Amino acid sequence: MRKTSKTDLPSPCWLLDESLLIKNLEVLKTIKVQSGAKILLALKGYALWKSFDTIKPYLDGCCASGLHETKLAEETFQKEVHTYAPAFKEEEIEEIASISHHLVFNSPAQFKHFAHKAKKTNPALSLGLRVNPEYSASPKEIYNPCGLHSRLGTTLNNFDESILDDCEGLHFHALCEQDSNALEAVLKNFETKFTAYIPKMKWINFGGGHHITRKGYDVEKLIGLIRNFKKKYNVDVYLEPGEAVGWETGTLIATVLDIVHNGMDIAILDTSAEAHMPDTIIMPYRADVRGAGAAGEKRFTYRLAGNTCLAGDIMGDYSFDEKLNIGDKVIFEDQMHYTMVKATTFNGIKLPSIAIQRVDGSIDVVREFGYEDFKNRLS
Ligand SMILES: *Cc1c(COP(=O)(O)O)cnc(C)c1O
Repeated sequence: MRKTSKTDLPSPCWLLDESLLIKNLEVLKTIKVQSGAKILLALKGYALWKSFDTIKPYLDGCCASGLHETKLAEETFQKEVHTYAPAFKEEEIEEIASISHHLVFNSPAQFKHFAHKAKKTNPALSLGLRVNPEYSASPKEIYNPCGLHSRLGTTLNNFDESILDDCEGLHFHALCEQDSNALEAVLKNFETKFTAYIPKMKWINFGGGHHITRKGYDVEKLIGLIRNFKKKYNVDVYLEPGEAVGWETGTLIATVLDIVHNGMDIAILDTSAEAHMPDTIIMPYRADVRGAGAAGEKRFTYRLAGNTCLAGDIMGDYSFDEKLNIGDKVIFEDQMHYTMVKATTFNGIKLPSIAIQRVDGSIDVVREFGYEDFKNRLS
């Protein structure tokens, strides 16, 4: 870790603003206090663990998707560890069970296959099953866990009552960047379908995808839904947001390396859409750029593009009040979630450094990457 100033940041660099993170955590804490729910951090979406000292006092633990995230939760967060995977492996189940507090299986077959071994390893472990409520208003099919032929969660048809003696909880995850209205609709379907089993449970996990910290999210409604549910069934309720924790808490700062012209002006940056902000291509979405507008909106329009040899490594077309110059910084907004957890060293491009701006304004560079990180992954 080294101290730096805003003007001396390495490039490219992810810069977390700790005070914005705390702002989100305060919202989550209010929900915890007023609803009685427990809230876990989904490591899938946000795993910048050098910020976990800030997060720990606010949340109840982490949800992990397999051995590596489970270990990371234990080593860096220490509170509750809830593990779900679409399928567990024989050689990993004991280590996962020994670390986890909740273990959630995806199918009755996996439940029956691993329940005994897991409980023998860790008698305090609470076992659950992920179910598929077969309803989701997810805005994109790639993020719809209830879509046609989805492998995620057990449908009512496939439910196997023989697991009920050992099953203490049900888990569903059917939201993606959605409001509490969407949760209400999912909850209605979940309750209708699994009504016979819910009262037998100790806990129900409402999954992630709650866009809680987005401006305009109906927090009061969420609190009401949880309170009613808890009262109705006398169960613990868990939420496990990832995106909502890291939402609008930091940026990816890059540098213009060259400007080329081919029917338009194209700025080549020292970062990559493909390698460092892959959801701009996969989801896809358009990242906001500080001070920039849509193409043609301001005086100077540029295509912002990455420094890999992939033709489609493009962030999009943006316009600026002033001409871009080589050496200028370009700041992509809201780049803390689903970025560093997904980043690759494709084409040998250097991974962005990771820095944290503390509440007092000082900046710590907490991680820098080099050639060895690229080489070591490849053999
Ligand atoms: C992805 C995921 C989450 C977190 O989702 P966000 O959209 O980041 O809130 C939580 N639980 C499960 C099972 C997931 O797959």
